[in-house]
Amino acid sequence: MHGLMMDMPLLVSSLIRHADRWHGDTEIVSKTVEGGMHRYAYSEAHKRARRLAKALGALGAGMHDRVATLAWNGYRHFEIYYAVAGSGAVIHTINPRLFPEQIAYIANHAEDKFVFFDITFAPLIEKLVPQLKTVKGYVAMTGRAHMPKEKIPGLLCYEELVEAQDDDYEWPSFDDRTGACLCYTSGTTGNPRGVLLQHRTTIIHAYAASLPDVFCLSAREVVLPVVPMFHVNAWALPYCCPLAGAKMVLPGQHLDGESLYQLFESEEVTLSAGVPTVWLGLLNYMKQEKLRFSTLKRVVIGGSACPPAMIRILQEDYGLEVRHAWGMTEMSPLGTFAVLKAKHAKIDKEARYAIQAKQGFPIFGVDMKIVDQDGSELPRDGKAFGDLMVRGPWIISGYFKGEGGDPLRDGWFPTGDVVTIDPEGYMQITDRSKDVIKSGGEWISSIELENIAVAHPAIAEAAAIGVRHPQWDERPIIVAVKKPGGKVSKEELLRFFEGKVAKWWMPDDVVFVAELPHTATGKLSKLSLRQQFKDYKLSSAA
Ligand code: ADP
Repeated sequence: MHGLMMDMPLLVSSLIRHADRWHGDTEIVSKTVEGGMHRYAYSEAHKRARRLAKALGALGAGMHDRVATLAWNGYRHFEIYYAVAGSGAVIHTINPRLFPEQIAYIANHAEDKFVFFDITFAPLIEKLVPQLKTVKGYVAMTGRAHMPKEKIPGLLCYEELVEAQDDDYEWPSFDDRTGACLCYTSGTTGNPRGVLLQHRTTIIHAYAASLPDVFCLSAREVVLPVVPMFHVNAWALPYCCPLAGAKMVLPGQHLDGESLYQLFESEEVTLSAGVPTVWLGLLNYMKQEKLRFSTLKRVVIGGSACPPAMIRILQEDYGLEVRHAWGMTEMSPLGTFAVLKAKHAKIDKEARYAIQAKQGFPIFGVDMKIVDQDGSELPRDGKAFGDLMVRGPWIISGYFKGEGGDPLRDGWFPTGDVVTIDPEGYMQITDRSKDVIKSGGEWISSIELENIAVAHPAIAEAAAIGVRHPQWDERPIIVAVKKPGGKVSKEELLRFFEGKVAKWWMPDDVVFVAELPHTATGKLSKLSLRQQFKDYKLSSAA
């Protein structure tokens, strides 16, 4: 017997319609690429999104057509999110930090019909045009006064498209399993692969992401997503904020410490989210200038392991609550958040930090297990580590166009992360399976070594990688960047590890560098580091 409830599809357009009807005067504030600030409210954003949806229809972008963006976090990008998906087309957010050849590959693979871009990317687009085989039109996300001079055939002006339409437009209704948004994984090995989110899964994920133990969103929050809208939808915040009626602050292209700090203060931001490197820049700036936050209370840090030392500084010196989170593009992207449970209320500070350093327990909707090489489940004892497998309604069933074959194993998605799960349900990443250091048949966690290195007061950033060793297969070395003015010798840093790890985990060497390579998503690029150090000769190997 079926229940007797309304059968309404869960569509992305319902989020912005809700925000307009019930939080119509709540602001969206953006730092623009043209310079200066732009402010309006959800009601105006909804109007313009509908006008843009009409314009897309007039251009010939129909159901399921892919419409790409190369854009920072800003109000026009937000409008495109809703206009494209809301009208039944698919928004394909492209990471502009990828190499041009990679961008051309994914745009052709996705068969993008239109490309919307921020004017900062006009030179890149000009270079890409000859390689993009399916694109029928390019739209510069600006007004007539700032149209780029680059040679881009049939270039259209965003503001003119919007102004040419009225807002007499009803969002269409369709099957909520329709694709809404296409994101490519950065493909550190092999070609990038497309992850196609559905309307239905996007809404369910946004509900879950707003829960108190996740982002804890409400109509009282002012949210500044530092994590870009071109990387897994800024961790779903452009969907969650309208759902909750939260004010949004979109930082544009300037993500340095000073720009972010000023925006946090001037817009009275209460919640923010980003990868660890962003907070590194912000903390350096604030320390130098002896600054404090007046309104910011919570930051969500994920995308790569957040060093415990960073959690401590943000909480103790800056009075914030840090939420360490884990997820991946294939998971829309949220999987776990490290928050405390009621029974932890009275545990001591150090025990609390130990929990917060983990990646956390699953959000309702995500199920997980760890398995050994034969696929047998391992105990959740906080000691056994194995491959993390996940399943749930917002986790992929296959890559776009079947790329790479069936990714699932017995209905579970293998994440490629090597982890432990403790008896209380907290998952901790030991490594990405390809980054783990294999020494004498045993595994050494690169993340744990990095966390220790950056806890040293003179170290800003560190990577642990395995280098070839004739006897042990691999041995760990630390490649580190010192803080400005930071003084520490190789020997001193090595001594700092003593007593913190087993003897055979001790790094064999330390190399100081001016900066470390990062991927297009702001993570340490271990792949390029390993290549850089592939012929490195350890003195222990002599
Ligand atoms: P890519 O970086 O390949 O584009 P994602 O952004 O989807 O892909 O990255 C997902 C991966 O990032 C995870 O599988 C995991 O290895 C790593 N990751 C994400 N969050 C964390 C975290 N809090 N701690 C450690 N690793 C993390």
